[in-house]
Amino acid sequence: MNRLAGKVAMITGAGRGIGAAIALAFAREGACVVLAELDIATARETAERIGHETGTTNVIALETDVTQSASVQAAVTQTEARFGPLDVLVNNAGINVFCDPLTMTDEDWRRCFAVDLDGVWNGCRAVLPGMVERGRGSIVNIASTHSFKIIAGCFPYPVAKHGVIGLTRALGIEYAPNNVRVNAIAPGYIETQLTLDWWDAQADPKAARQATLDLQPMKRIGQPQEVAMTAVFLASDEAPFINASCITVDGGRSALYHD
Ligand code: NDP
Repeated sequence: MNRLAGKVAMITGAGRGIGAAIALAFAREGACVVLAELDIATARETAERIGHETGTTNVIALETDVTQSASVQAAVTQTEARFGPLDVLVNNAGINVFCDPLTMTDEDWRRCFAVDLDGVWNGCRAVLPGMVERGRGSIVNIASTHSFKIIAGCFPYPVAKHGVIGLTRALGIEYAPNNVRVNAIAPGYIETQLTLDWWDAQADPKAARQATLDLQPMKRIGQPQEVAMTAVFLASDEAPFINASCITVDGGRSALYHD
């Protein structure tokens, strides 16, 4: 229950889905938690729910756009004014941009990279100076199994997610001497609004859902809290020598040879 006691953590895109599950798990483990989210109304509701469920008063929502470095920096400044120095950053905010490469607009390319890669860098850049100065910190970047594998028709999302692994490894090495760990989690299919929206966009959403389940070795997809458990571990002092790594949370799906 107290694996993150005394730690201050910020999670981007934490109003719903995986980010909200991470925020709840962190609060349960005793962290002071900041939900840095574009949709402030959702983030406030989620922060309130976390407060009710855990009894903590150390949970707040801050309107944050990860595509804007000044917005992320402002969220870090407000977090530290309220709770003290940040120990943990989870760069979770992400969007699906699935296009055909040759008909994709420039706007789609930029929108994808602005959130899925620049957003992660903006978070890292905002917290690293303080973490380096204090000689401690843990950054957890939410990547994807699209960081290693390609599905046709999903361009350019996997390109940006491959970049998240590169960024994680590069920063993990740069700041290892300062005791700042930078790791990633690569979720497979997880049941969030993002996934529901994707199924709903298919011609036959029910069949699309079933086809997804059939592809899973465990015959189910993952739940947000199953990613959150891994984030707790990486953020905690239980993982002091895990750095520049990525933990896959996909029920074994990406180890399968055949589709
Ligand atoms: P959701 O869409 O459910 O939640 C993402 C949250 O991020 C939303 O609240 C969204 O707010 C917020 N957000 C979007 N853009 C920004 C921004 N510019 N600044 C701040 N917040 C923003 O997604 P998931 O929970 O499913 O995904 C979370 C992460 O996990 C993403 O990085 C995703 O790529 C990754 N992932 C998800 C998988 C899955 O199967 N669900 C699989 C693999 C990886 P708003 O609603 O206002 O847009």
